[in-house]
Amino acid sequence: MSKILVIAEHSQGQLKLATGAAAACARDLAAPDSGTFEVLVLGENLAAVAAAAANYGAAAVLTADHAALKEPLADRYAHVIAQVVKERRADYVVAAASTFSKDVLPRAAALLDAAMVSDVIGLAQDAEGLTFRRVMFAGNVIATVRLAGAIKFLTVRSAAFDAPAATASASPVSAVTLDGAALPSLIEFNSCETKAAGRPDPTEARIVVSGGRALKNAEDFERLVGGLADKLGAAVGSSRALVDAGITPNSLQIGQTGKVVAPDLYIALGISCAIQHMAGMKDTKVIVAINKDPDAAIFEVSDYGLVADVYEAVPEMMGKL
Ligand SMILES: Cc1cc2nc3c(=O)[nH]c(=O)nc-3n(C[C@H](O)[C@H](O)[C@H](O)COP(=O)(O)OP(=O)(O)OC[C@H]3O[C@@H](n4cnc5c(N)ncnc54)[C@H](O)[C@@H]3O)c2cc1C
Repeated sequence: MSKILVIAEHSQGQLKLATGAAAACARDLAAPDSGTFEVLVLGENLAAVAAAAANYGAAAVLTADHAALKEPLADRYAHVIAQVVKERRADYVVAAASTFSKDVLPRAAALLDAAMVSDVIGLAQDAEGLTFRRVMFAGNVIATVRLAGAIKFLTVRSAAFDAPAATASASPVSAVTLDGAALPSLIEFNSCETKAAGRPDPTEARIVVSGGRALKNAEDFERLVGGLADKLGAAVGSSRALVDAGITPNSLQIGQTGKVVAPDLYIALGISCAIQHMAGMKDTKVIVAINKDPDAAIFEVSDYGLVADVYEAVPEMMGKL
């Protein structure tokens, strides 16, 4: 019977939606041999997050609740994950593919001398056992990978696994016993600066409005891309062209070297859709593009396209909305 440990991700007391994808993958991993999965939540004051994580059908939700874990410092989190994997005798550790897990999971895997695969989009079984399908090279290659060793770590793309339907009964929640003094302290938390824009996180949002080189300056970007996003309650994204030009911050970049998003709707305003940009948004359900060049590559991947100048079309759309 396989035992799987899901690492929950949360922010400001809210469980991140991508954790549902990790739970769904854990459920699929557990199913063939009637195994079970548990969800581990790390942080401080975790009651609300643990209650949300208790709806996935896990055998238990484990909370590592300690003042020293208030901030997601990778050395401490990795230490606690390794401790819990050993205590619960987990065979697999699963987390959503995200910046958080890129930082934390490989360290935890290294502490246990375990193999790890990232960006998993599917599981398959062959004569020799379980394999993982993962995207590589900006989504141009899908590799099939087998992991050796007793413990296996993986991160999963959220678009590839639908979150489990909420269960009628909540999973039991129990606390992990922690020795605060034994936690590593090589990394010190200094401060965290976030823009209080009040807009959703693009990796979690149902709708993302993204702007490209067509936007000539930060004011136009805010007025057109930000304005349309606010009308739709959407998150804002940007191509790298605007980040490189200093028009948008790096935190908005979507793509191979930016964030990977998989919303229901992605509206691309004046973006050509270079392959590196596509790597960050191609799992979108519906792509809408506005571009003044009828031959722009974005029209090859979009579900709806409008050949128009964003400076004319977007204010008109906002007016109608
Ligand atoms: C290693 C590497 C990693 C990279 N990583 C990323 C990444 O993560 N994300 C990313 O986005 N890019 C990335 N890039 C850059 C990428 O190759 C492209 O250069 C970039 O995505 C182009 O951005 P763009 O589409 O906004 O600009 P352009 O390619 O210049 O396209 C602008 C588009 O706007 C249209 N347009 C212009 N004016 C208007 C108007 N008024 N109304 C309507 N349409 C208009 C044009 O027709 C054109 O199609 C990477 C490149 C490399 C080499």
